[in-house]
Amino acid sequence: MYNPKSHNAEEFICHEEVLASLDYAEKNKDNVDVIDKILAKARLKKGLTHREAAVLLDCTIPEKNEEIFALAREIKNDYYGNRIVLFAPLYLSNYCVNGCVYCPYHLKNKHIPRVKLTQEQIRRETEALQDLGHKRIAIEAGEDPVNNPIEYILESIKTIYSVKHKNGAIRRVNVNIAATTVENYKKLHEAGIGTYILFQETYNKETYERLHPTGPKHNYKYHTEAMDRAMEAGIDDVSLGVLFGLELFRYEFSALLMHAEHLEAAFGVGPHAISVPRIKKADDINPDDFDNGIDEDTFAKIVACIRIAVPYTGMIISTRESAECRARLLNLGVSQISGGSKTSVGGYFNPAPEDEDSAQFDVSDRRPLDDVIRWLMEMGYLPSFCTSCYRQGRTGDRFMEICKSQQIHNFCQPNAVMTLKEYLEDYATDATKAVGEKLLPVEIAKIKDDKIRKIVEENLVKIHNGERDFKF
Ligand code: SAM
Repeated sequence: MYNPKSHNAEEFICHEEVLASLDYAEKNKDNVDVIDKILAKARLKKGLTHREAAVLLDCTIPEKNEEIFALAREIKNDYYGNRIVLFAPLYLSNYCVNGCVYCPYHLKNKHIPRVKLTQEQIRRETEALQDLGHKRIAIEAGEDPVNNPIEYILESIKTIYSVKHKNGAIRRVNVNIAATTVENYKKLHEAGIGTYILFQETYNKETYERLHPTGPKHNYKYHTEAMDRAMEAGIDDVSLGVLFGLELFRYEFSALLMHAEHLEAAFGVGPHAISVPRIKKADDINPDDFDNGIDEDTFAKIVACIRIAVPYTGMIISTRESAECRARLLNLGVSQISGGSKTSVGGYFNPAPEDEDSAQFDVSDRRPLDDVIRWLMEMGYLPSFCTSCYRQGRTGDRFMEICKSQQIHNFCQPNAVMTLKEYLEDYATDATKAVGEKLLPVEIAKIKDDKIRKIVEENLVKIHNGERDFKF
């Protein structure tokens, strides 16, 4: 029944295979021989199967767990260096016809103000995001065929890309909208989106159907096979995620990795990124109503094991989490974070507190983007506003090839340095600029190729003199 190559959800996320993997992990969680064999394979830094990764996740031997965390850090450093890519969500509309019981946008919630941005409001929102320094955003919308049809999403993408405010530009629009048809995915692809993001929420079919009692999202098969349709339509950068807290984390962990294995087996390219959101308090939503919440240590272990299992897949953590939690996870494998986020519709242009009412969930990290950038640099990271890969055609298998051979550093490091320089020139406070200008020479020195390093140095002078958007 289990078949990673199949396009049938119940075959590539086979319930029996998940249970068998959990059973195998439970039986071997303190088996030193098995764990050592898995760790030896993991040290090759080419990934693990979901079953192998499940054993590491369950492992109860303290010394082995230390090895797991150390290896996650090493892999992170090998493939991503100290770079952290920044993005922000842009909420277009919170109209929604679904009944998701964990989400405040659910249809029966009559007290949340429903807001849908006009194109003029999207223009203002984009300018506000540009004024913060953002170059990469993820657009978010509820599912509502009447209020938020695909034409509205496409028009909004066009508007966002067209706004050029001062030195600003949104250079990559990622899209997080409900599962849709191949035709609509084709339209999104043609609109020049970066990544298509869709969280599975939970991979357990029974739980999924209970938590999505009404609306189009109720259809487990349609939702779970969405990435297959997106790939069929030509979108080869897709981003997966589960909403931790809804179902047992061990189940989600194995199934999430099975989904990644499926994309690799069926399309030759794994997910571009994996998000690890946890359920948060929101209007009409109390996270305590869900029994499967995970503590900080379990969360860290999940992130470390994902890092080891899929080394070429970026990992994303949002402002749902506190600064403290994010700092810990950055060290273990997270490569991309949001900063200065507003989860209310129109929240960047009009950040009045009462506006927070339309927010999707409470954010824990409320610091302005500039504080986040300085904080990252003070911890030894290199913040990056790079959007280059997809603009240079490095997507899907082409991206994966470059990533696997670790050639990616030749692009990422220069691009990170140049986009950080833009940020420091255009948006940074004096305090952040001072830290950043000290960091730049250190990071430039890490560029191994003499020719590239020289070009970067010349470009930094040009950026200082007003030119923008250099990229490799
Ligand atoms: N409406 C789209 C869909 O159905 O996929 C996606 C947009 S939704 C704005 C983005 C994600 O927010 C959801 O996929 C869900 O995982 C997450 N989310 C919903 N309610 C949440 C809550 N109370 N706390 C944290 N995350 C939540």
